[in-house]
Amino acid sequence: MGSQIHGHAPQMVMEAVIHQLGRGTAFAIGTEAEVQFAEYMCGRIASVERLRFVNSGTEAVMCAIKAARAFTGRSKIAKAEGAYHGLYDYAEVSQTASPSNWGPADQPNSVPVAQGTPLSALSEVVIIPFNDTPRALEILDRHVDSIAGILIDLLPHRIGLMPAEPAFVDALGAWAQKNGALLVFDEVITFRTTYQGAQRRYSVLPDLTTLGKMIGGGFPVGAIGGRAEVMKVFDPSDKPTRLPHSGTFSANPVTMVAGLAAMQQFDASAVDKLNTLSERARLQLREAIKIANVEASITGAGSMFRIHMKAEPPTNYRSAFASGQERERLERLLKNFETKGILLIGTGTGMLSTPMGATEVDRLSSAMLEALRQL
Ligand code: PMP
Repeated sequence: MGSQIHGHAPQMVMEAVIHQLGRGTAFAIGTEAEVQFAEYMCGRIASVERLRFVNSGTEAVMCAIKAARAFTGRSKIAKAEGAYHGLYDYAEVSQTASPSNWGPADQPNSVPVAQGTPLSALSEVVIIPFNDTPRALEILDRHVDSIAGILIDLLPHRIGLMPAEPAFVDALGAWAQKNGALLVFDEVITFRTTYQGAQRRYSVLPDLTTLGKMIGGGFPVGAIGGRAEVMKVFDPSDKPTRLPHSGTFSANPVTMVAGLAAMQQFDASAVDKLNTLSERARLQLREAIKIANVEASITGAGSMFRIHMKAEPPTNYRSAFASGQERERLERLLKNFETKGILLIGTGTGMLSTPMGATEVDRLSSAMLEALRQL
């Protein structure tokens, strides 16, 4: 699930954790390890001046939504149809929208994921179509005075793992700035795509960024960071505190030392090397599709790829949505992969990690060729 950027049990993470175990694992107050890791991450991401740690990506997104509300005094959140941002009621709306319930493209419905989701939660979430600037702006304009923040993933796995177009992101950023809303980038997965996260590839800076997964070095983690002025909503020395925030295991020193060790080893040259290898993986997967002459395509960037059983790579959630037949073909393809010892998650997505090399990529693409032929 993207948490093990150096594979399982990397030496430097094990050493850091074993050393920390002897010094204590959970404290009521902050630790030096927390400060060191926070300073390191602030140094790495230009838009992040202050950072707070939590225990999961879900929690990070929840805190970012609450921070946007506390900062703006507004309640609504805008998010892209189909995007996964964890399990918080508001964050998950329309993640599983389907043709039977998603409504018109210029006014997508707010579709619940979990049974029992309160209607009040749905009415606080404004759904915009990914990579469709005119429609997205039109929808946002209808809620101009009530939107606290726009939550966006720049390479959203569940939408289809296609990059957000720079013009789309610029337009969302300009709209947020003009109308007093915050721009929130969910980089829980995408932080791996460049040394400074996917936001490095875009000209607009977010007010808040959420992080998680690999930054914990394999231990439970999440983080919210951003502009100091916005992060001040969490400041417990402000009375009354605008957004009280704590967590028993948040910033526990085991996660902190594991995360710092893992991130120091995932430096700029390690990121570049992994991205180059992953580019090769995507290329070879596309070659396999061509040779097998099957209707399929590959999306992805950085160290990620996703297989679609469609001839053309999709560009948004609705075009990526698999028909019954495409879903059935993907399921069979993934079963074929399993017989070759390769386990991909149900969406047909894979992520590479630093111990991998040409051998693993060749194994992946030849498995792909065989799996496609078996179809
Ligand atoms: N945001 C994104 C973009 C994610 O991919 C995920 C996890 N897949 C989350 C948030 C939630 O993270 P976690 O599973 O750590 O709660």
